[in-house]
Order: sequence, then C-alpha cells, then structure tokens
Amino acid sequence: MTLNLDRPAPLRPKTQPKVGIVSLGCPKALVDSERIITRLRAEGYQIAPDYAGADLVLVNTCGFLDSARDESLSAIGEAIEANGRVIVTGCLGAEPEVIEKAHPKVLAVTGPHQYEAVMDAVHTHLTPPHNPHLDLVPESGLRLTPRHYAYLKISEGCNNRCSFCIIPKLRGDLVSRPIHHVLMEAEKLVAAGVKELLVISQDTSAYGLDIKYKPETWRGSEYQTRFLDLAKGLGSLGVWTRMHYVYPYPHVDNVIPLMAEGLITPYLDIPFQHASANVLKAMKRPGNQDKVLGRIQKWREQVPDLAIRSTFIVGFPGETEEDFQILLDFIREAKIDRAGCFKYENVAHAESGKLEGHVPEDVKEDRWHRFMAAQAEVSAARAEAQVGRTLDVIIDGPGEEAGEMIARTQADAPEVDAVVYLENAAHLKAGDIIRAEITGADDYDLYGTPV
Ligand code: SF4
Repeated sequence: MTLNLDRPAPLRPKTQPKVGIVSLGCPKALVDSERIITRLRAEGYQIAPDYAGADLVLVNTCGFLDSARDESLSAIGEAIEANGRVIVTGCLGAEPEVIEKAHPKVLAVTGPHQYEAVMDAVHTHLTPPHNPHLDLVPESGLRLTPRHYAYLKISEGCNNRCSFCIIPKLRGDLVSRPIHHVLMEAEKLVAAGVKELLVISQDTSAYGLDIKYKPETWRGSEYQTRFLDLAKGLGSLGVWTRMHYVYPYPHVDNVIPLMAEGLITPYLDIPFQHASANVLKAMKRPGNQDKVLGRIQKWREQVPDLAIRSTFIVGFPGETEEDFQILLDFIREAKIDRAGCFKYENVAHAESGKLEGHVPEDVKEDRWHRFMAAQAEVSAARAEAQVGRTLDVIIDGPGEEAGEMIARTQADAPEVDAVVYLENAAHLKAGDIIRAEITGADDYDLYGTPV
C-alpha cells in the first residue's frame, strides 16, 4: 500500500462514519467490494449511497484492458471532484504510480485483494467508530448482487501466462481457498435465501492445484480441494450452481454426470478465446484444443440441454483470414450458445503487444461483425428450439410491461446472457423458481408464461 502522508488529518465524524464505494470491473472485483463492505459494516461504518453523503469514497478499480484503466482513472477523478476524499484499491492499485500521477490528491492506494491494507487506509483517514456492532452484519456477509443470486469466489490469481493478459502480474499465482471454507460460505448464502450460486475464479478447473487438492471435512465427509468435489458439495445444497471460467481440461468431463443428475446447472462458461491452433499458440493458452469439439459433442450427448458460454478475441496479432474462418466454424460446430467477443486491444505490459502481425482496426471491426452475426445464428437456433417447451426459470424482477417479470432459464447467467419475458407473472417475486411455457423467441431472448 502507498499512503499519501501529505494529506488532511483523519475525519472523526460525530455520527456513524459513512464510506461510499464505487465498484468497477468484473464479478471478481465485485466480490472483493462485497468483502470490503462486509468488513466496513462489521466495524460499524455505514455505506453511503452517493458521493455527497460519504465521508470518504473507496474506488475499486479494474486494470485489465486499457479501456478499463481509463474508466478507472476517470471514476477516481469523478470521486475526487464530487467528494474529495478518495482511497483507491483493486487491479489498477497494483500500479500506484499511474494513479498518483493522474490524481495526486488520492488519500491512499492499495492493490487487489489487500483487504487488510484497505481497512488500514480507511482507519487512517476516517476514524473507526467505537464499539462496533458485529451483529449488524448478516451471517452471509453483505452483497452487491440481488438477494437470490451470489458470486462465490473459490480462488485468487492464475498459474497460466496468456500473452494478452496481465492478471497474473496483478494478482499473482493461483491461491485456492480451502474447500470447506468455500462450502461453508455457500451454505450460509443458501441459508440466507440465495437460490443461485455463481462460481468464479480466474481458472476454475485448476482449483486446488496450488494446495495439492488438500482434503478437508465438511458436514462430516471428506472433500478434496478440487473442482469435482466442489461441484459435488455445491450440488448437495439444492440450488442452481453455475460454473464460470472453466478451462476444458480432461477432468471437466467428470462434472458432466453431475449435470445429468440435475445437481449442477447444465451451463459451462469456458473462455476459449479462439479456436485456431496458431492463434491459441500465440496467445499461450492452456490446454489442448485438438479434441475439444469431440468432447463437447460427448457432453451434449449426456446433457442435451447443456449451454456453453464463452468469450473470444478477434484480431489477435497474427490472426489470418484462415484462422478467423476456423473460429467461425468452431462456434457453429460446437454450438457456442452464448458468447462475448472482444476486438484485440493492446494491454499495457502484456507480452502480446510485442508480437508481429498486428491486425488493422478495420479488419478487426469487420471480423467482429461477422463473428457476432454467426453467433447470433447459433443463439437464435437455440432460442427457437425452446418454443413450445416448459422450462424451469428463476425470477429476477419486474419487467417494464404491466404484469411482466424478467426471468432466466438454466442456460442463462445473470447480467451477461439472455432473459425470459414472462407475462401474467405479477404474483411472482425475485428468486422464485417456477415452470414456464415458452411461447416465443427472438435471436437471444425468450417469451413465456408461468404454468
Ligand atoms: S487463464 Fe490466461 S487470461 Fe485467464 S487470468 Fe490466467 S493468464 Fe489471464
């Protein structure tokens, strides 16, 4: 942590001190923000809903892409202008010199996952209240997601070294949470009303590798700290469990039967990034892509409703038209149901910036549009195939039309995937899981009615 010593004296407000929090970036950063908020509330701080009501503002930044760095820097600037007392944490906090150069008035800068350092900085600049009421905090902690779903972070960092990514530089190597800690947290979340758990990390299939899959005890049984045992434990909780950031290592095959049994939600978020061997090699991606298509087909034989979400990068340095065609063929053949696509961007300090063969912006743009069109066909075919079926859906909240509720099927994660517009559903509430008849579809979304 760097502390700006040439700063105003700590505030000692007469009422409960209030901290505002701005959370940028990915779900992993959101989980960090939730942990910080939980700690703050445990110590008796209040969370201010806006800049004006805050005694101090914490900005949790993202430093992954250059565009995210710019967004982080402008969010810090906005907080300084609106409030004046700002502490910065998160990925961009790993580069304090960048922040301090742009915003010399920040009070302190801490890096990602430095919970103690963030709390120290808050204590330094906003004196903690006496006699904190620990019972202000619900047992499940405080969350920024709606009450019916929660992100469950199983590890920090990453042992891979993809050439376009600086996460290992920012967050370090893989550090897995012991499995009983993760399962106990999941248990508390479910007891607090969570109906859907979203498992996140940088590399979920590598879970436990760093601690040699250490066995632990949960509910009287032994569980190894590994992906399969995690799936078994979470699958026993009786809620939807969605696996994100899963690399297609061979042992992922073992989790598919748990989906067939209905213990784990039939959904895999696999960040393939590309399908051409040349590009994957230049990207230094882990795993062997050769047999991936065949394995996906086998997974689908066991779990016909399996939905696969992925992210891809088009216009990576050296990507030829042929490589791009391989990618288009892959998303069609593998039927990648949901996909995010990014045009390659140089990330400061990432190795890929030094590669030969950077693709011109207009070519990237053209490939991006062609990718999105091809993916829309796959997605529309899946949506169309759902019409006439009766599916389980989870209610997220009211829609814009009278009596309408927005819901999701098991094939859709919150915020990133498609939704179901349910009519005549005003009697339902967020978190309800019901059966719905699907009556219509467009390229992505479904329309239906409760049965
Ligand atoms: S797997 Fe690759 S892209 Fe993902 S965090 Fe690790 S290094 Fe970055």
